[in-house]
Amino acid sequence: MKPDLTKTETTILIVEDEEKLARFIELELAHEGYQTEKAGDGRTALHMALQKDYTLILLDIMLPELNGLEVLRRLQKEKSTPVILLTARDAVMDKVAGLDAGAVDYITKPFAIEELLARIRVALKLHGMAAFPDSAASPSHKENHQPAPGEQFTWDRLLLDVPRHRVTFDDEEITLTNREFIMLKTLLQNMDIVLSRDTLLEKVCGYEYIGETNVVDVYIRYLRSKIDEVYGIKMIQTVRGVGYVIKSKEGTNGKE
Ligand code: CA
Repeated sequence: MKPDLTKTETTILIVEDEEKLARFIELELAHEGYQTEKAGDGRTALHMALQKDYTLILLDIMLPELNGLEVLRRLQKEKSTPVILLTARDAVMDKVAGLDAGAVDYITKPFAIEELLARIRVALKLHGMAAFPDSAASPSHKENHQPAPGEQFTWDRLLLDVPRHRVTFDDEEITLTNREFIMLKTLLQNMDIVLSRDTLLEKVCGYEYIGETNVVDVYIRYLRSKIDEVYGIKMIQTVRGVGYVIKSKEGTNGKE
């Protein structure tokens, strides 16, 4: 079989303390033509990841020495290597914390190797695309920039600016993670339409996360704690048994 050039240039760091699982992943990835290296504890993994530019890191959360989330946080301060987390079933908070800390994806153990390979391909593709400079947001155009439809959303005194990736309330900036931003944007884009948890999950996480809809509730809680609670408003409404909605208020939807 002819070696795939993109794969032979791809080195994946496998961080997993269960030796059998690590070996299994290593063999499967090698079979697919990827270069691999292994680390069995968090401290070693962090050291390796800081020393070398891996194309991708598969990072277990429950690790000796330093847990995966801590490895991820420390790594993200230094570089932007894409990370896929390997998490235990039902560890929803770990998943959310991991995504907020900058992981591109997570996969729940036990997983089918085909699923892991698919997620690796998606992560590599996304990261490759993200490497291009965002020409759309060139600073020279910012001064006299008139927002095009769909670029800005307002609700009460809140403003969400899509190209600038910025949310403000009375001109005060609200710091949101990328996924919180996407969730808020999705709700504002669909003003007065009740969105199901599945719909929100798909928008926010990009593709199907079957049975993980409680992740949505966690993000809604974060958004409420950062916006509703801080400014004493009731922006995001729960529709019991259905999902969430932001309802337009008279004269404040920015369309007059
Ligand atoms: Ca482990």
